[in-house]
Amino acid sequence: MFALIFFSACLAVTVLVVSLFSKMQRLKELEGKIAALNFSLEEMDEQAKLIMRTDIELNKTQEELDKKVAGLDALQKLSRQISTTLEEKQIFNKIDNKYLEELGFEKSLAFLWKNIEREFRLYLCLGYTQDESEKIRAAINANKDYFLELIQKGSTASSVSVPGGFLAKDKVNHLFLVHSFIICPVLTQEGDKGFIFVGTLDIETPITKGGQEFISILANQIAQTLDNARLFEKTWRSQQELEMKVEERTRQLTGALEEVRKMSKRKSDFISSVSHELRTPLTSIKGYAAILLAGKLGALPEEIKERLEKINRHSDELVHMVNDLLDISRIESGKVDMKIESQDLKAIVEKVFDLLSEQLKAKNISFSSNIAENCQKILADRSQIERVFINLIGNALKFTPENGKINISATGANKIVQVDVKDTGFGIPEEAQEHIFEEFYRVDNAINQKVKGTGLGLTLIKHIIEAHQGKIWVKSKLGEGSTFSFTLKAA
Ligand code: ADP
Repeated sequence: MFALIFFSACLAVTVLVVSLFSKMQRLKELEGKIAALNFSLEEMDEQAKLIMRTDIELNKTQEELDKKVAGLDALQKLSRQISTTLEEKQIFNKIDNKYLEELGFEKSLAFLWKNIEREFRLYLCLGYTQDESEKIRAAINANKDYFLELIQKGSTASSVSVPGGFLAKDKVNHLFLVHSFIICPVLTQEGDKGFIFVGTLDIETPITKGGQEFISILANQIAQTLDNARLFEKTWRSQQELEMKVEERTRQLTGALEEVRKMSKRKSDFISSVSHELRTPLTSIKGYAAILLAGKLGALPEEIKERLEKINRHSDELVHMVNDLLDISRIESGKVDMKIESQDLKAIVEKVFDLLSEQLKAKNISFSSNIAENCQKILADRSQIERVFINLIGNALKFTPENGKINISATGANKIVQVDVKDTGFGIPEEAQEHIFEEFYRVDNAINQKVKGTGLGLTLIKHIIEAHQGKIWVKSKLGEGSTFSFTLKAA
């Protein structure tokens, strides 16, 4: 019985011990889990703190970024405003409080160096009273060498990198009435120099590297616009000078032209009256010579007859010359009535060819014409244009040796017909080509000594063509031939 009780007690103890042991084991496990949980909690706390810190930094960066964007935007608008100006004072007037505040400043000054007066002159004043700005201007001019050196170095000065000397922080605070500032030099290619000052009293607004860059960009923009303004001023001034010169020259030329016109009219009048005066005695001379030659006053010895014939021939030449002179002066003074009508070029050329065919045959000169059947008609006075052809073909005949060729061609374009009279004659020396349309001009060569002429034919036809609003010119090569070309309006 005792043994049974003992055994039962032992069993109960054993069960108790085992249960205790297993509970302790569970407790240990729980402790481990709690420790792990605590560790995770701490980690999470750390992470939460990190997230908060990052968020604050992100917000700050965002704020800075927003400020930069706003600054850049203001700078861009300001640059655009400035660059549209070409007047020195106006450039600075474009910088106003609105832009300045967007850039984070409330005070600004700009000075340009005036070399003749040897002083800095104020061009921009924002955020200061007149008295304050006057005081600053005087102080800057009293220290001009310091500022000139600063500009020459081209470096930006600011309250972050306090430059010392005149711009030592306490002096700046005292004189410029700001807490922080930036000074940027303005240097142009045209030699202007000056600087722009911006500042703020706000302790919260720090001067950053970005801010300094903004002001330096603004200073560069001002310098560039000043350069443009100077260039514009120069161009404008030289244009004014040029215009004045042109005006003066035009006045002189108009006067000279008027003088030439008067002289030309006097000359035409003179030629016209002399020619008239010459015609009457010439007709008498010719008449008497004809009577004598006809033997109406008795038979004449052969030598006298020969001389009378010479008088007759020379009188004919003189009459011819006088008539040409009269025609030139009449066309020149617009006294000839042109009967402008639609004319068939081919028919005119054929008529002139008939007139000159004997002379062409005599020199065995082949004559050809390339005027197409459907060639445009011309607007011209028939008899005057016939004279042009007679003169041009007559000249070609005169100045082309035997067995040569003369060709007439015509082409039309843009309501203009161009006629070319080409020969295989002696040609005209280059230096004489520009003179051959002048009155009495004849090329001074051996050919002209043998060939008779007055030097008036080409002058006359030039006048006729110009009276038809056409043009006439020559292309020629010595020994190869000449081409006389003229234009007329197509019908
Ligand atoms: P002219 O024939 O009476 O001398 P023009 O005024 O008709 O006067 O011609 C002026 C000059 O131009 C001529 O003397 C001649 O030297 C030159 N000339 C004109 N036509 C020709 C031509 N077809 N070939 C060579 N020379 C020419």
